[in-house]
Amino acid sequence: MPVTSTVPTSHRLAARLARDLEGEVLFDRFSRGRYATDASHYQIEPVGVIVPKTDDDVRLAMAAAREEGVPLLPRGGGTSQSGQTVGRALVMDFSKYLKRLISVDPGARTCVVEPGIVLEDLNRQLRATGLWFPVDVSTASRATIGGMTGNNSCGTRSIRYGIMRDNVASIAAILADGSELNFGEVGRNLAPLGPVGAHAAKPADGAATPADGASGDAGSFSLVGDMLALGRREAAHIAQAFPQVSRRVGGYLIDALLPAAGPVNLATLLCGSEGTLAVSRRIELKLSPLPKNKALGICHFASFRKAMEAPQHIVKLKPVAVELVDRTLIELARDIAMFRPVMESHVRGAPDALLLVEFAEDDQAENLRRLDRLDELMADLGQPNSVVKLADAAGQKAVWDVRASGLNIMMSMKSEGKPVSFIEDCAVPLEHLADYTERLSAIFEKHGTRGTWYAHASVGCLHVRPVLNLKLEKDAATMRAIAEAAFAMVKDYKGSHSGEHGDGLVRSEFHTSMYGPHTVRLFEEVKDRFDPDGLMNPGKIVRSSRMDDRELFRFKPPYRVAPFTTVFDWSAYAGAGGGFQGAVEMCNNNGECRKLVSEVMCPSFRVTGNERDVTRGRANALRLAISGQLGPGAFASQEMLEAMQLCVSCKGCRRDCPTGVDMAKMKIEVLAAANKQRRLCLRDRLIAYLPRYAPYAARLAPLINASNAIPGAARLIERLTGFSSKRPLPRWHPRPFRLRHDPEASPAERASTRVAGGRDVALFADTFNTYFEPENLDAGVEVLRRLGYRVRLLGAETGGGRASPPRPARPLCCGRTFLSAGLVEQARAEARRLLAVAKPLLDRGTAIVGLEPSCLLTLRDEFISLLPGADAERLAAQALLLEEFLAREAEAGRVAGPIGVREGKLLLHGHCHQKAFGAMPAVHQTLALVRGLKVETVTSSCCGMAGAFGYAAETHDVSLAMGELSLLPAVRMAPPHALIAADGFSCRHQIRDGTGRGALHVARVLRDAMRAGA
Ligand SMILES: Cc1cc2nc3c(=O)[nH]c(=O)nc-3n(C[C@H](O)[C@H](O)[C@H](O)COP(=O)(O)OP(=O)(O)OC[C@H]3O[C@@H](n4cnc5c(N)ncnc54)[C@H](O)[C@@H]3O)c2cc1C
Ligand code: SF4
Ligand code: SF4
Repeated sequence: MPVTSTVPTSHRLAARLARDLEGEVLFDRFSRGRYATDASHYQIEPVGVIVPKTDDDVRLAMAAAREEGVPLLPRGGGTSQSGQTVGRALVMDFSKYLKRLISVDPGARTCVVEPGIVLEDLNRQLRATGLWFPVDVSTASRATIGGMTGNNSCGTRSIRYGIMRDNVASIAAILADGSELNFGEVGRNLAPLGPVGAHAAKPADGAATPADGASGDAGSFSLVGDMLALGRREAAHIAQAFPQVSRRVGGYLIDALLPAAGPVNLATLLCGSEGTLAVSRRIELKLSPLPKNKALGICHFASFRKAMEAPQHIVKLKPVAVELVDRTLIELARDIAMFRPVMESHVRGAPDALLLVEFAEDDQAENLRRLDRLDELMADLGQPNSVVKLADAAGQKAVWDVRASGLNIMMSMKSEGKPVSFIEDCAVPLEHLADYTERLSAIFEKHGTRGTWYAHASVGCLHVRPVLNLKLEKDAATMRAIAEAAFAMVKDYKGSHSGEHGDGLVRSEFHTSMYGPHTVRLFEEVKDRFDPDGLMNPGKIVRSSRMDDRELFRFKPPYRVAPFTTVFDWSAYAGAGGGFQGAVEMCNNNGECRKLVSEVMCPSFRVTGNERDVTRGRANALRLAISGQLGPGAFASQEMLEAMQLCVSCKGCRRDCPTGVDMAKMKIEVLAAANKQRRLCLRDRLIAYLPRYAPYAARLAPLINASNAIPGAARLIERLTGFSSKRPLPRWHPRPFRLRHDPEASPAERASTRVAGGRDVALFADTFNTYFEPENLDAGVEVLRRLGYRVRLLGAETGGGRASPPRPARPLCCGRTFLSAGLVEQARAEARRLLAVAKPLLDRGTAIVGLEPSCLLTLRDEFISLLPGADAERLAAQALLLEEFLAREAEAGRVAGPIGVREGKLLLHGHCHQKAFGAMPAVHQTLALVRGLKVETVTSSCCGMAGAFGYAAETHDVSLAMGELSLLPAVRMAPPHALIAADGFSCRHQIRDGTGRGALHVARVLRDAMRAGA
């Protein structure tokens, strides 16, 4: 293996690549750190990273690396669980640019893609053809076809559709020596080695691009000849070398070389080769018709063993999926509010296990007949009346969602011990499944650990992850001991030790014990023939290291985080920084934050496609920084600030990340640390201190607003302050909000709002609505009063609610603007002040109602970290957005609809924090109280404005790009008479700036509807 670690080599390589490539060349320490991990427990720092833009970039990079003797490591989403996507190599990230669907041939049911295309994206593009690519991996939202091919990935429905090897028709690849070859079906005479997708040449984009032109050269043909010869020579050995289970992805698929009646497909040899043989450049896929109908049977078992005995019988009914959910996951799901309803309606009693059995024949009557037969079968198996049948699509989806999220909950364990994946995808013949799971559970018990079982019972491939703390040597030894015992048992059952997630650094070393030394020699022969210099992802599949080599672990000895102080309370987690370390280490790199379509997480990644700008990349940078792996001062360095710059603090990750990584809160820690060593720029200070100077500025509103309109002023302001000249700043309102019973309000105003009796509600008037859009607060007050509530302004008694001459009192503030700038002490002071004022109301059980999601929800979220204690907890429980309050009152029978009338459509955009805190259902419930309103929600993520983000000159364009992901186009498409509603101050401004259309706070929609219905 060539030595590649000398600094001059990487410098030379970096310089050459930077000169020659169109794409990105990332050799800095932070970038290398970000690419040092995948979803396994390993970490190896690469030599450097390139993000190729074109095929030529790939060719040039491969040539440069070869000449410098640097290994190569192709990469897709980096979601591998076995360490195959980490290495001391030049990493080539295909996921950003090389992701086109090149062509589709609906007649032949094939398509040709670039390797970086994500499975879900591909299937979205294919939908109109009625076809799909059916290898439905759980990571479909971010797994690339290149990576899926590299891993020979397998989907939930593999019993019907097979795995990657069954669904890849051909691959155009570049070999280590730079030669190019189309791997596809060949006859014994090596013909035809035609272009990839030659018979699938209908361009997807209408461009007249043939799928690909390259044919193999003479050297490549001899390689193919050698492979076929190996197949012939070793036919007798290969025929008996591998277990006869469908889930065998370990080693090279040399059984594909066996002389067969038909042509041999050489693309199969690249499936599961984990980037060790060649780089895939174009992949031709076999497509399947989209299922027209589906029906689901939920089989209940009183004992886990019974559940494990059943699949061998159930598969005879020809289902497309049989998935296991064990008791732990059932109980976890029942504990989660959002899943409780589906668990209550579809899961009976307290089963020890469930099997989810899906039928997907075109004829729904046939699916239902099979459900009946499943019922009969279960009765024969001693489980009468134990099948809950679901024919409606929504119900089925809800159940599948529980299955997927139950796993996420399991992964969210906050202790230092975590579920570790290393024997998680062994596969055994179905007749042995019950014995295998029982014996493996006993092994766990012997080692003082346990595992939760789930997944693909249909093919005998069950996922199970024992809980271990791999920072400890003893747990690393336990991992090895469990692996050895488990694999030996799997061998006894003639099963497969590598049934889904690939070999990588975890399983490669076990090929010898599982398949025998001769088979491994054949693997080496294949490797050496393709890659004689060992430059392609070395150390995987053949000549691997030990799986328990701790030098390769993410937490390698002496992994240590020195004590440091944080500004927030992180005590829910373990480790340094009061638990900050544990919170950061929660990221297990599963890549969910890379999904391309989502309601929230992670908008910055979806715009840039950069690993730097995704939650995972940020979490990795933080982990490496606090553990000293990025050099001194990395935590508050310029590079760290750059990594955080495009994080819009939408809190999407707080909700959507399976392990609850809360990057918005972590970003504040970084800003606070950086503030200790820098001076905040004028713009950041203007934003942070806005609540403090707003009462004074409001008095100059006409002047400030007018100066914004002066020609050239915007550019001058941009130069002086850094506020973008490309959009107008918000206009100060000449008459800021005052509650009408303010002593200075006119008698008429006071009279109009006086309500006798009624329940008390305290209104938290946030800075933005108070000084820029007070009509929203007016509307909120009117809505509440019309419904009979007695509204008092939070802080009015203390002068905190007044904004009138002679000397403006300082209104209460949530501290959000300070937090955004990392000025945590100032935010804490605001929190303390607000909490003191709120305390008597909290004691009386009065709800604190607010209108601006980012402000009100700060009371629910950051306040608890800023001022941990019972008062903050009580405030969090009693602080509600207007719609949450009204929905709660409606549920309690104190508000009854209809409360107003408004005919027509309303397009609703939820603020990210509303989504992150699950507050959107309440908005729908409240709007449903208005007669005639037809509400449609935009499936949008962050609007992109995100407080001051959209106003900053350097992030203005990214801000608009975020809006363009879905919100702004949806608003433009809305009929002119439709209402647009958005509770977020920033969202309304983004909509106005991006589309020219106005958006209303829901309070105003309600108020207008009430007036109309009065
Ligand atoms: C929570 C979770 C659930 C998962 N569920 C499943 C599942 O249901 N089924 C399943 O099979 N797997 C599953 N996996 C594993 C993993 O997600 C899949 O194997 C996925 O297909 C990998 O895709 P990727 O784009 O992330 O590939 P990567 O991890 O980036 O790469 C995978 C391999 O392919 C190679 N490769 C990438 N691109 C190329 C290229 N252009 N040319 C040559 N080689 C290349 C890489 O070198 C690497 O060896 C799961 C992982 C996680 C974290
Ligand atoms: S941040 Fe969360 S979603 Fe993203 S990779 Fe880490 S654990 Fe997964
Ligand atoms: S807060 Fe939002 S932008 Fe920031 S990392 Fe999380 S999901 Fe991404």
